[in-house]
Amino acid sequence: MTAKVLSGREVAAVVRGEVAERVAALADDGKTVGLATVLVGDDPASKIYVRNKHKAAERAGMLSFDYTLPADASQEQVESLIEQLNRDDQIDGMIVQLPLPGHLDGSRAVLAIDPAKDADGLHPYNLGLLVLDEPGPQPATPSGIMRILSYYEIATSGKSAVVVGRSFLVGRPIAMMLAKKGVDATVTQAHSRTPELGSLLATADIVVVAAGRPGLVNAGDVKPGAVVIDVGTNRTDDGLVGDVDFAAVAEVAGAITPVPGGVGPMTIASLLANTVAAAERSHMREG
Ligand code: NAP
Repeated sequence: MTAKVLSGREVAAVVRGEVAERVAALADDGKTVGLATVLVGDDPASKIYVRNKHKAAERAGMLSFDYTLPADASQEQVESLIEQLNRDDQIDGMIVQLPLPGHLDGSRAVLAIDPAKDADGLHPYNLGLLVLDEPGPQPATPSGIMRILSYYEIATSGKSAVVVGRSFLVGRPIAMMLAKKGVDATVTQAHSRTPELGSLLATADIVVVAAGRPGLVNAGDVKPGAVVIDVGTNRTDDGLVGDVDFAAVAEVAGAITPVPGGVGPMTIASLLANTVAAAERSHMREG
């Protein structure tokens, strides 16, 4: 293998350490930091994600509050719980675990979150701040990717980047973050209607793949020496795999994130960072 492996586990441990220090500093000043999760139903994968978020929050010294509603909860019940958490001074950040059961509207639920307590950085107000390049909670997975790039001192200025995927969760925000002033990549956004994805990828210095399609990116698609960030998280008979054929692409790329252990751990670390930042802002307002 020629590529350097970019360990999200390593970077996430650094971020969690920073968060724990900031939580301790607030505690010294008499302010607790609280993260709440809202889970609707009993989807096994969602339950594991929520459990991992609580564990990480508690390890960082935060209070964690676990709210679970039955699978047949109404939209009104979900939103009234969120409004109750908005008013709760012990809660600085919250996440609504998506996707919600099919009869519920996840976007409307996210809209009900107080933007100041939006730990996932997905409220339209905060996505608006991202477009305006103003500070605020940023979408957790893309901000985790940016932290991996900065931790490993990967140059972005003047580089060409191709982002595969255009979801509001990953593809669109990461494209915006890579193109912003100071980061200065030249970004092309690809999606399922992009013709000849392979030849487009072959032009890129940085490739971010967030499609949810195992094996989408192969060795022949990637420019030698390129940086490949694999966001894909696909459960297959062979276990958890990304969208990139890791073994083959690692022979061609200059650097690559593994799955698991790449982008995944950064998402939780980023939502803890958003939560402690929200607590710091609320403490400043109170103080
Ligand atoms: P999504 O909402 O389903 O979006 C997938 C995007 O990929 C869409 O824009 C789609 O294009 C595009 N796409 C699908 N097939 C493609 C193809 N063959 N060629 C080019 N583009 C294609 O998914 P998401 O929420 O962004 O998540 C993407 C992946 O990242 C999933 O595997 C998810 O599990 C993973 N993920 C991981 C983390 C983490 O923490 N590691 C966090 C979030 C997501 P259209 O718009 O044309 O349909």
